[in-house]
Amino acid sequence: MALVTMRQLLDEAAKGGYGVGAFNVNNLEQVQAIMEAARETESPVIIQASRGARKYANDRFLYHLMEAATEVYPEISVALHQDHGNSPETCKSAIDLGFTSVMMDGSLMEDGKTPADFEYNVRVTREVVEMAHASGVTVEGELGTLGGIEDDVGSGEVNLTDPEQAEEFVERTGVDALAVAIGTSHGAYKFTKEPDREVLAMHIIEEINERLPTTHLVMHGSSSVPKELVDTINEYGGDIRPTWGVPVREIQEGIKHGVRKINVDTDLRLAATGAIRKAFAENPSEFDPRYYLKPAKAAMQEVVRARMEAFGQTGHAKDYDPISLPDMAVRYREQGHQLTVT
Ligand SMILES: [Zn+2]
Repeated sequence: MALVTMRQLLDEAAKGGYGVGAFNVNNLEQVQAIMEAARETESPVIIQASRGARKYANDRFLYHLMEAATEVYPEISVALHQDHGNSPETCKSAIDLGFTSVMMDGSLMEDGKTPADFEYNVRVTREVVEMAHASGVTVEGELGTLGGIEDDVGSGEVNLTDPEQAEEFVERTGVDALAVAIGTSHGAYKFTKEPDREVLAMHIIEEINERLPTTHLVMHGSSSVPKELVDTINEYGGDIRPTWGVPVREIQEGIKHGVRKINVDTDLRLAATGAIRKAFAENPSEFDPRYYLKPAKAAMQEVVRARMEAFGQTGHAKDYDPISLPDMAVRYREQGHQLTVT
């Protein structure tokens, strides 16, 4: 599979001063929608799969969907990332499967629910860094915990990232990218009113970026939950309570301060559900799944396109040739875990 490593993708984004959306997939339609948006906007992209997604789709199906994506869209630099790996074993199985990046989320214990202590987090993350970098694979760690629960991951408890601890964490683990907790949550119900800069604790991002200028920062739970997507669902029989996500302009502020990877999942789910509900309502006699999956795919593509434009990744799909995994492994061996961004 001709995938790009996430490290290279994020290094290039840092050079270009833009962010890259990381979109979650479970099935064919999502992979196609994301890759079509990437082609339309000539964007590099990160596709990520949670443990739940790997179970739902089956690892072999997921592998071949991504292999097909690289064949059909050879002009697009795409990285495949394990979202919220809960243990070194999960990360190892992802690497064996061909993922070019893994997240070891040691902010939670292996159950994906219980908040873990700092020393546990350092230990398991370091273990994954040693293993992954030996194969040229990128590693994302997490310090602090997000609110909300998604795909069975999360303690539901918010613990903001401590910038001083972040510095120690990166030094001791050697991670390429760090997910920071600034008050966002997984899922659709992030905020009960439009969040301002204080609610979002953007100053934490700024402080971590000052301490760790070459570490790529990651924003989880960063769907914007646009009102029009929620309205469409509710207009056609859905029941989504009033809710607010992370405003795109706040993400853009983060990108100015070292945020390179932005995780978006909920917005695609909302777009697909609204489109399917609308199709059902408009033509109740239709029963060909393509009748409702086509508009669902188009709605997801539209959201992805809009995010790619907002994050600034458009036009950068082929700025560079992929560095192979073995060549990346050599770089880590020669330069140490903390690569210098060239
Ligand atoms: Zn997450």
